[in-house]
Amino acid sequence: MVESEAGEAVLRFVNTHADGGGRPELFGTARGFADWAAGHELLPPDVVVTESDAVAARELRDALVTVLLAHAAAPAPGLPDAEKYLEQAGARYPLVAVIGREGARLRPAAGGVPGVLAGVLGAVAEAAQGDVWGRLKACCNPPCHFGFFDRTRNRSGRFCSPGCSSQVSMRAMRKRRKDAEMA
Ligand SMILES: [Zn+2]
Repeated sequence: MVESEAGEAVLRFVNTHADGGGRPELFGTARGFADWAAGHELLPPDVVVTESDAVAARELRDALVTVLLAHAAAPAPGLPDAEKYLEQAGARYPLVAVIGREGARLRPAAGGVPGVLAGVLGAVAEAAQGDVWGRLKACCNPPCHFGFFDRTRNRSGRFCSPGCSSQVSMRAMRKRRKDAEMA
């Protein structure tokens, strides 16, 4: 479990893509995105969700996955574009500060789908206030790229699971063997 509600909210959103190994793309259609959002009580089931909403959700998610790959020191060639996208998304999906005696939180300024996406940005902003953001990473085993919380003391975690870690070492071992045979 991630020791942060905000971190969990970010992982819930990013871990919705297909991985080529059985996990399906959840945001592939308007219906899929609407079901996901309703399932997490982020949208009432009767809200109209369009295909372009699903595209917006995928774009935001993929930009976040790119940043999480960079956190894991994986090659993330799309990083400058992803950061630019996220900056623009911040203007498109505004947040308001709700301040009280107990603390302050960022809440979506709008409802509907823009509100769901703003909520994700708010969770990122909250995670970034503490130690959580840099520990949210995407698995370096392509095409898994699943988000996880790196609990290692020195922030050296690169894989979502021991399975992904051993797949990558097996691949590297096979490549070394092949390279040696060719030499
Ligand atoms: Zn993985």
